[in-house]
Amino acid sequence: MQVTGSCYCGAISFKALVDPARVIVCHCNDCQIFSGAPFRAVLPTPAANVAVTGTASRYVKVAESGNRRLQAFCGECGTHLWATEGEGEPKTMNLRLGCIQERDQLVPTAQIWGESAAPWLKRLPSVPLHEKGPSSPIKATTTQQE
Ligand SMILES: [Zn+2]
Ligand SMILES: [Zn+2]
Repeated sequence: MQVTGSCYCGAISFKALVDPARVIVCHCNDCQIFSGAPFRAVLPTPAANVAVTGTASRYVKVAESGNRRLQAFCGECGTHLWATEGEGEPKTMNLRLGCIQERDQLVPTAQIWGESAAPWLKRLPSVPLHEKGPSSPIKATTTQQE
């Protein structure tokens, strides 16, 4: 399917032809730190299928194994956009799901690095869910008022 993505400030955008069946969630420590979130969802896509507008900032991460991964992000607003091979021509771009407009339609088909997944994730469905901010009513709760 065709998707459109951009960073928060709009300085960098992309259009891509993606395979929705390839969405994965990664629970590795590096994804947690880079994203500032408990896990990261990515959509591996051939670089030839991605057309980028704007120039992304780059950081090359070197893993313990020596493997190099280029992390692309917006130098203005800091949004993480994709990761790709750290050397040579990029072959595959792991697009960050959060910056894709059609993200609601892109459902993960696998999770990796479960050994470092946040231990509370399994209990998340039982944590109160507010429609908007914390002062908005909680679904299915009618009695409690501040
Ligand atoms: Zn930006
Ligand atoms: Zn990861």
